[in-house]
Amino acid sequence: MSIQITPQAEVRELTRLERCAAHSHIRGLGLDDALEPRKGGSQGMVGQPKARRAVGVIYKMIQEGKIGGRAILLAGKPGSGKTAIAMGLAQELGSDTPFTTMSGSEVFSLEMSKTEALTQAFRKSIGIRILEETEVIEGEVVEIQVDTALNKGNMDKTGRLTLCTTEMETVYDLGTKMIDALQKEKVSAGDVITIDKASGKITKLGRSFSRSRDYDAMGGQTRFVQCPEGELQKRKEVVHTVSLHEIDVINSRQQGFLALFTGDTGEIKGEVREQIDLKVAEWREEGRATIVPGVLFIDEVHMLDMECFSFLNRALESDMAPVLVIATNRGISKIRGTDYKSPHGIPLDLLDRLMIVSTEAYKPDEVQSILKVRCEEEDVEMAEDALELLTRIGMETSLRYAIQMVIAASLVAEKRKSAEVEIQDIKRVYTLFVDVKRSTQFLMEYQNEYMY
Ligand code: ATP
Repeated sequence: MSIQITPQAEVRELTRLERCAAHSHIRGLGLDDALEPRKGGSQGMVGQPKARRAVGVIYKMIQEGKIGGRAILLAGKPGSGKTAIAMGLAQELGSDTPFTTMSGSEVFSLEMSKTEALTQAFRKSIGIRILEETEVIEGEVVEIQVDTALNKGNMDKTGRLTLCTTEMETVYDLGTKMIDALQKEKVSAGDVITIDKASGKITKLGRSFSRSRDYDAMGGQTRFVQCPEGELQKRKEVVHTVSLHEIDVINSRQQGFLALFTGDTGEIKGEVREQIDLKVAEWREEGRATIVPGVLFIDEVHMLDMECFSFLNRALESDMAPVLVIATNRGISKIRGTDYKSPHGIPLDLLDRLMIVSTEAYKPDEVQSILKVRCEEEDVEMAEDALELLTRIGMETSLRYAIQMVIAASLVAEKRKSAEVEIQDIKRVYTLFVDVKRSTQFLMEYQNEYMY
């Protein structure tokens, strides 16, 4: 069976989309070389020094391959940064480290079994770094000719690219696509470039000595350049990372790769996965692929039941297992579907494997710093007193509510043609969108009128 791993460009785009939004400002754990949290915040991460220090030690264990079979439990109130810390850990592990986040309750969907939902989450969190060889052409640009021609009312660009090496001159017909790529890369005569034959991707390697200057100095003679012999066509290794789940979906006959965009992948057959695992093992043996264990974050883990917990226990034993970070805000509670009570609603055999890290409630100055980071991230100018008011709102309602107000307030400010968010904009948004406390209060006050 030939396993398909494309369309990779689109797939990476999708992952990037998932990473944006609420946590897009998180770029790491903000630790120094001694794995101590940098003061005043760093890499978008603010406060939580104890939790960051602890996760820093876990990061070291992962790097040294000593985390096997264990998982991390982040215990703390809602909005205390549990997801942010898990995401920071993934970022710290490398830019192509997959990060998957899900909530315990998502497992109980009608579309697939619980174990299938967890299997997909695990496989989304396992990256496969694949080495591929592609043929590239390398040479110095001698000339780029762009002609425009009127075709059916449209101005079409056509042209030629002349590349040369010590041995020969090569001429390419340029489609519009390549002209655009050359313009985007600001390629001009005298630059040494490579062209990937399969994708048409152009990379500028820099300038050799300037051909035009050389041309003048030589009194009108053309001296061909600088590219080492035999390099007109060479093979280059390119690396890209896809997740095991992406490979599953692309090779699953029922779904096809479009399912990656709709997220509607349904259940994937066991045989497809078996074949993919075999193929990946083969690639690893041939040195063509390496595994990049990612981070799987499961929030509200107390929503899982015994079947899910036994799945997690088993899945952690696999040599490809991602780093499992689970989170809860429950103390002693019943394990779902049973009458047994246990710490955090988690069975003892899984508790035994956990490294528990707690997150603390934020102080006003930390809330203010997080809001400031969010303003920078969303390109929002906010007046000092408006930020102070927003901080107070964040402390009294929730950090998440205050974060959501940033962009809404900036739109309100924009509407009155102000480049800066001021107190009046915050007040306006506060009255337009209620927080959970006010919303429930309102419903309680009026519920008698609703029910009759
Ligand atoms: P829940 O239990 O409700 O899922 P949580 O503990 O996972 O909440 P987050 O979602 O991580 O909380 O935090 C809420 C928002 O605040 C997010 O946008 C997050 O990126 C941001 N945030 C939280 N803590 C920090 C931090 N220490 N530094 C920077 N941003 C943070």
